[in-house]
Amino acid sequence: MVLEKLGESLHNALAKIFKSSMVDKKLVKELVIDIQRALLQADVNVKLVFEISRRIEERALNEKVPPGISRREHILKVVYEELTRFLGEKPKPLNLKPKGVNLLMLVGIQGSGKTTTAAKLARYYQKRGFKTALICSDTYRPGALAQLRQLAEKINVPVYGDEAEKDPVKIVKDGVEKFKGYDLIIIDTSGRHKEEKGLIEEMKKLEEAIKPDEVMLVIDGTIGQQAAVQAEAFNKATPIGSIFVSKLDGSARGGGALSSVAAIGAPIKFIGTGEKLDDIEPFVPSRFVGRLLGLGDLKGLVEKVREAEVKVPEKDVKAFLSGKFTLYDMYKQFESLRKVGPLGKLLKMIPGFAYGLPEETLELAEKRLDRWKAIIESMTVEERVNPKIFNASRIRRVARGSGTSEAEVRELLKQYNLMRKMMKSLRRKRLPFFKGGFMPR
Ligand code: GDP
Ligand code: MG
Repeated sequence: MVLEKLGESLHNALAKIFKSSMVDKKLVKELVIDIQRALLQADVNVKLVFEISRRIEERALNEKVPPGISRREHILKVVYEELTRFLGEKPKPLNLKPKGVNLLMLVGIQGSGKTTTAAKLARYYQKRGFKTALICSDTYRPGALAQLRQLAEKINVPVYGDEAEKDPVKIVKDGVEKFKGYDLIIIDTSGRHKEEKGLIEEMKKLEEAIKPDEVMLVIDGTIGQQAAVQAEAFNKATPIGSIFVSKLDGSARGGGALSSVAAIGAPIKFIGTGEKLDDIEPFVPSRFVGRLLGLGDLKGLVEKVREAEVKVPEKDVKAFLSGKFTLYDMYKQFESLRKVGPLGKLLKMIPGFAYGLPEETLELAEKRLDRWKAIIESMTVEERVNPKIFNASRIRRVARGSGTSEAEVRELLKQYNLMRKMMKSLRRKRLPFFKGGFMPR
């Protein structure tokens, strides 16, 4: 999935910053080029890519770094802010009047997901206490009305349509008349037409005649940069107030869909993430960028990075990552990581780790750390460096010496082996973290 790939290449780009010992101009330029490449590969519009990267470079190089945060953190912040900016800064829900009826007109080409989206939105606002109704003004697609009815039935929302009527304006006017007293009426318009110009014409006529409160363009997230072309064409006919990007669950070429937003300056308000009616999410740019970068909580990461910078010596990190680590190294790593907060949570915030250290190992490590320490301290140096030599009698001796049980010693050895294996496979995949460590230092 391209979105994931974009996230991964952005990771890699940022990883460089965290990996190198010094952040200088050359490194920033490299970062900017990496980000450009990542965005271009994700099909983001070229002009936009240059605009974004120009701003990142300019800010990363020239802005004064506020006291108390490192240059690295500042760069992370700049990248995050600029990516968020280009998606629109704040989440923007529909601007619904509390009194009177709100008309929302959905436009978009056939197959973009309009009918499904109409029902999803009806459901979304119905759940939030709005009295919602649907109108089908698609007079071209056979069975359009039946499709909408079928979806609406599941959610108990009334539908108006008239298959005998060929004038969409009349249908909508009749429907609005019928649904007097409703809070929100969503209009599912036609997508197919003999020719695209005709479709755009029809949307223009409809918009002028019914004056909807908002026109929302539904764009198929899988079409890539075509989204921009489509958005512009529709926007010429009727000023697009907002965008719904559908099908972001599948093989979405999200970058292209994002470009379309910037191209016409309308915000993405929702995204569709599946075929079911509950597969709808309000679009929150900052959350989206966070997801792209693979950072659950960026602010939290920045804070933890700062704390960890002091506490985890580089030498240890290297040993940890090299995979040639001994039992005692493993223990030391867990211990120093524990100091900066709940282990599992911290590791999940570090890109790269998100790709799959065994969760149970982390949880166990957190719980058993003290006992593991005792066990490891009861081992001979040879045992620590070469745990392969453990046999039943050694295990018994260590258990007795540390005041633990043989089962616990076995468990520690098992976790150790699991981690070794995991690290080996991670290094094979050449993930950024393990290439040299996207790691606080
Ligand atoms: P319309 O021609 O614009 O009205 O599009 P439809 O609503 O008929 O949808 C076309 C196809 O896309 C249908 O098979 C829908 O189930 C599917 N679809 C719509 N939205 C989504 C979505 O968010 N995710 C996925 N996976 N499929 C969707
Ligand atoms: Mg339809």
